[in-house]
Order: sequence, then structure tokens, then C-alpha cells
Amino acid sequence: MTAARSTSGSTRDGTAVLWFRRDLRLHDHPALLAAARDGEVLPLFVVDPALWGPSGDVRRAYLLRSLRALDADLGGRLVVEHGEPAEVVRRLAQRVGARRVHVSADAGPYGRRRDDAVATALAEDRRELVRTGTPYAIGPGTILNGSGRPFQVFTPFSRAWSEHGWPAPADPPGDVRWLGEGEGVDGRHWPAEPDLGDLTLPEAGEEAAHDRWQEFLEHGLADYGEERDRPDHDGTSQLSHALKWGELHPRTLLADLRRQRSDGARTYRTELCWRDFYADVLWNRPDSAREYYKPQLAGLRYADPGEAFTAWAQGRTGYPVVDAGMRQLRSVGWVHNRVRMIVASFLVKDLHVEWRHGAREFMHRLRDGDLASNNHGWQWVAGSGTDASPFFRVFNPVTQGQRFDPQGDYVRRYVPELRHVPGRAVHTPWDVADGYAHGYPERIVDHAHERRVALDDYARVKG
Ligand SMILES: Cc1cc2nc3c(=O)[nH]c(=O)nc-3n(C[C@H](O)[C@H](O)[C@H](O)COP(=O)(O)OP(=O)(O)OC[C@H]3O[C@@H](n4cnc5c(N)ncnc54)[C@H](O)[C@@H]3O)c2cc1C
Repeated sequence: MTAARSTSGSTRDGTAVLWFRRDLRLHDHPALLAAARDGEVLPLFVVDPALWGPSGDVRRAYLLRSLRALDADLGGRLVVEHGEPAEVVRRLAQRVGARRVHVSADAGPYGRRRDDAVATALAEDRRELVRTGTPYAIGPGTILNGSGRPFQVFTPFSRAWSEHGWPAPADPPGDVRWLGEGEGVDGRHWPAEPDLGDLTLPEAGEEAAHDRWQEFLEHGLADYGEERDRPDHDGTSQLSHALKWGELHPRTLLADLRRQRSDGARTYRTELCWRDFYADVLWNRPDSAREYYKPQLAGLRYADPGEAFTAWAQGRTGYPVVDAGMRQLRSVGWVHNRVRMIVASFLVKDLHVEWRHGAREFMHRLRDGDLASNNHGWQWVAGSGTDASPFFRVFNPVTQGQRFDPQGDYVRRYVPELRHVPGRAVHTPWDVADGYAHGYPERIVDHAHERRVALDDYARVKG
């Protein structure tokens, strides 16, 4: 490998920086191909305090493991720096004399601002930030309706999304000439990995994600349409964290799905479209990450998140499927989609705590925590989002449990105090003679009553 030192401000033809962010892979990576066309490539990851600070330990630990896997795939050359990206990226580009810094475009509100600041800083040295590709099948902001405006509802968006189509996976990387640590660059500023206690994470990295996808294609996809709503079965792909960090690109998955004819393949494609949809919504309405997408719902009365919120977060509400979901969150950093909806509805409509508190708790603990999918998922349940589940559709935590966990296996897996209760009776411990024999808590609210309170308040706001 050639040494790549340069004096500040000068550029060397034939050297580029590839700044990894949410694209921690080497295959199906258009920005990597663009960087390799420039010549030797310095692979960089910047630990940005603005993102690292608010992330929970689970996301931090997963990210570090994913970076370690990427570093191994790069032969130990990944440069990891800590600091404000505009300063760090500019300094590294100066150091190796790169004329261009290549990235996959970020579509989130913070990422767009940050990238504009980095582009400005680089331009001062007559260097360029080159954005190639995005983490989505179709770049956010691309799909517009007949009047040239963004879609606000999922179904027409998904139709336009399918009609628009997406590119085939990018070519394999070939022989990239990587630069790295030791060549004028001291870049081993890895943060320490947080201690997760008993929490277990899936194996991180591009190869592990591909293996998981192959296993799902072979054994899970055909039945995905029926199985995806069953938290007691492992019927979903469990790839949200890999998609979040770009260990896999959705384009790769969509190319494989084209070869499949099952209903499961069609349903899975729709789920990937939801991911694109929420990113598109966030692109067009960056305020909707924190503010109500439908402002009229902001007038609902909410309680302060006191003891009831703590009971919810710790899985001690006395409603078995809600408690199982929140304990799953704490023990594996992931929750089944059906259960995410149940626990979110319970917080907002039974405990009358505003969705923003729940969204924050999820972002803090989820390994796949993603601003677009999470905050719009919460707004969907709270009735204030796009294509919203109407506010008056309140999930009943008992019948939802009985329907989607019919034998009670999911609840017993996560709630040890109820393991002695057999079958579906586990969803109604109050009807079982020894239901509370092992310390399971009594219900903290009466669902039927709280449902009426929520609906009355909704009628007031609508009225
Ligand atoms: C309140 C709430 C919060 C959520 N927070 C997040 C989050 O922070 N990050 C996240 O990735 N997903 C989130 N989701 C969506 C969904 O629950 C997860 O993507 C899914 O459970 C991940 O498991 P999986 O990979 O096995 O999904 P699968 O069923 O195998 O689906 C495949 C992929 O499609 C995408 N997907 C599936 N459902 C949705 C959806 N409703 N919205 C957007 N994308 C979807 C995901 O990328 C997922 O990995 C949330 C949903 C709700 C209701």
C-alpha cells in the first residue's frame, strides 16, 4: 500500500475517503464503487457525539460490533475517529489528500444538516462531498403523486413505489485499494463497548446478515404472510437492525424476492415499502419526527409519565401480553411488530401518556431504533400519523393476546411469574385460581374504563 500523506489543503489525484454511516457493508454499495473509481480509498467511520450521546447502550453495542465486523472485512484498516464530523472529515481528507469524500446520502433531518455542513467545510479546501445512493430502495423525496406532491397515505405510495421500481444490486466491489491506519492516519479511536448484562444481541456484520437472510428465504418466507403476526413463532426475518445499519441493502433483498412467487414474498416486499414510506414522510416533513403529523390530534389531554409509565416500561402493568412485550424489549432489544402496536396503544390509550414518551423509550432500548420507522410507527398507533389507524381503534390487550399468542407461549417466555399458568389462560390470570401465586402484578388500570376515557377525549378534540 502506498503512503498517503499530504500537506493541509493539497489534493492528490487517486485518493478518496469513503465515510461509512448507515451502510456498514462492502457489497451492493454504490458509494464504495464511486470511491474506488477515484483510486485508493480510506475507509472512515466517525463517532459523532450528537448521535452517540442520545443512543442507548443496545444500539451503541450493536453498532460497535458491526463496525468490528466491517473492520475485519477491511483487513483491520477501518479508521474510527471521534468528534464533530465537519472537523474530522475535513482533517482526514486533508491528511490523505483526497479530492472527494464519498457517502451514501442520509435522508434524516440531522443527517442532512450535518452533511451540508461537511460539504461546506470540504469546499473550503476545494474538496467535494459526493452522495451516491441512499439506504432505501428508492431515495426519499423521489416518489410524487400526479400533482407532483408527496404521498401522505401508504397504499397509493406503495402502488407508485412498485411502478417506479428500483435499480438492480450494485456490482461487486472487485479489488479496492484500501488505505488505512498507519499511513499518516492515527485512527483507532474506538469507544468502549457498553456492558449489556444479560441482554443478548444477534451476531453483527454483513456476513451474519446475509446468512440470516438466506435462512429466512429458505425456511421463513413462504409462510411469512400468515406467520408475521405471531409473536409466539419466529416468523419474521429479524433483519431490522441489519437494514438500519446497512449491513444489507433493501435492493439486495428485493432482487431475491423477484425470484419468489409466494404470498409471503409479496407481503415482505410491502413491509420493505413501509420502511421506504416512513423515510419519505420524514424527508418531506422533517418536523414529524417530533411534532404531530396531524396537528389537530395535538389537543388531546395526556397524563405526565409518572408511575404508570414506569410500570409500562418495566413490564409490570398486569396485562400479560403488554408486559411480555416490554420485557422482550429489555431482554433482547427487539419487539415483535404486532406487540409493538399493542404496547404502544396501551401506553397512549389506556395510560394516556403521550406517544413521544413511548417513542423515546423505544429509541433508547431498541437495537433497530430508527427515527423514521419508530416515530411514525408510534404516530400511526396514536392516530396522529400518516394513514393513521383511526384513534377510536383501541387495541384490547387481552383479546389481542388471545388472538396472536393463542397458546400463551410468548407470554410465558418473557413473564416467569406466569409460567405455571397453562395455555391461553395466561392472558387472564385474574380468572385463574393461582394466577397471582408467583408475584405477577394486578392490573394497574381497567381497560374498558380507560378506553372510554380516551374516546371521550378524542370526541372532545374532534368536536
Ligand atoms: C410503535 C412502533 C415502533 C417501531 N419502531 C421501529 C424502529 O425503530 N425501527 C424499525 O426498523 N422498525 C420499527 N417498527 C416497525 C416494525 O415493528 C419493525 O421493523 C419489525 O418489527 C422488525 O422486525 P423484522 O425485521 O423481523 O421485520 P419483518 O417482519 O421481517 O419485516 C422486514 C423489514 O421490513 C421493515 N418493516 C416491517 N414492518 C415495518 C413497519 N411497520 N414500518 C417500517 N418498516 C417496517 C423492517 O425494515 C423489517 O426489518 C416499529 C413499529 C411500531 C408499531
